[in-house]
Amino acid sequence: MTELNLASGASYFRSPDAAITAATAAIKSGQTYYGPAEGSPELREAIAKRYTQDGINVSPEQILVTPGTKQALFNLCSVLLHDEDEVVIPVPAWFGFNELLKYSKGKLVTIQTTPETNYNLDVDALRQVLTDKSRLLLLTNPANPTGRIYSKQELEAILALLHDYPNLYLISDEIYDLDTYSKPFTSALSCAGPQERVIVVNGFSKNFAMSGWRIGYMVAPADVIRQSIDFQSSTFSGVSMFIQEAALATIQHSNEALAPMLEVLKEHRKIMQKGLEAIPHVSFYIPDGAYYFFPDLRYYIGSTSPDGTSINSTEDLCDYLQHKHNLIVVNGDKFGGIGHVRMSFAVERHILELAMVRLKEALLQVTFTQKV
Ligand code: PMP
Repeated sequence: MTELNLASGASYFRSPDAAITAATAAIKSGQTYYGPAEGSPELREAIAKRYTQDGINVSPEQILVTPGTKQALFNLCSVLLHDEDEVVIPVPAWFGFNELLKYSKGKLVTIQTTPETNYNLDVDALRQVLTDKSRLLLLTNPANPTGRIYSKQELEAILALLHDYPNLYLISDEIYDLDTYSKPFTSALSCAGPQERVIVVNGFSKNFAMSGWRIGYMVAPADVIRQSIDFQSSTFSGVSMFIQEAALATIQHSNEALAPMLEVLKEHRKIMQKGLEAIPHVSFYIPDGAYYFFPDLRYYIGSTSPDGTSINSTEDLCDYLQHKHNLIVVNGDKFGGIGHVRMSFAVERHILELAMVRLKEALLQVTFTQKV
């Protein structure tokens, strides 16, 4: 049985030709030495322009080019967090945030959102968990794993809370901002509110299938950028100049790179939706953005596989799918969505189609002693 892997966070697309051509040319022309820690002026300008052309006020001095979005987040955690500070994260959320915090000073505080309310982040519930120690509120928009997009109205209601917490910054992780389907995307940078405490992190890994190039950026107020440049120059120096050239070329040819990928993702999203609809007792949020479904498989926990093994947890269920059906998905418990699994539709079409058939077969084969 062929392995069907829906677990990767990287899409299967090839990185843009513009990136590959620009990087190769830059290496050949000798751009192989240290560059400015903050990033090349041309790339910072191009990143700022992608916001200003949407009417968002961002200057190149507010941009720091980083070796991936993850490093932008780690940089911010390193410069902004002190002992005892709290980092508030609505869950389900990408498990990478917990991992980053292992190496930072902050303490994680989660706030549960649920599929029953379409993963709505209730502002009153959020207020309940905020304290004087809350330092970062970390949103992912569009969210990984749910694909939920926050509306402008929701973002502004959240931002309004910052007025009552003068030490609190909002970090909006917008790494999937161009992978959107059904709802308009709003950057936190374009919202009314205390913009002097709004930070956006973003990158090229997801929108442009460039996860291996390790390049991302943050957009932040000038004082945060200054501290973050110092952190970067003290620890990492700066992103390779030829990688920055590739990122610049990608921005300059972004429509060419993005349009064909988005077309495929739109179709794949429909295929996965249909596949999930065909399985009894499975519910899910239809993602507005990113490239995952996060179906609720709780019904199937408490069952027995055909060989008599009990399936008593999400982990057991993922093990059953992997070891008996060669179908790999990510255990949703890791994201804070017990009984859910994350499935990527940014995979080759034949893998996706086979996977949906296999998931249904696998779930229909389990038996229940108690359920009727
Ligand atoms: N943020 C989110 C929400 C992600 O899903 C990921 C990758 N899985 C990252 C950040 C890290 O991205 P990068 O490759 O740019 O470090």
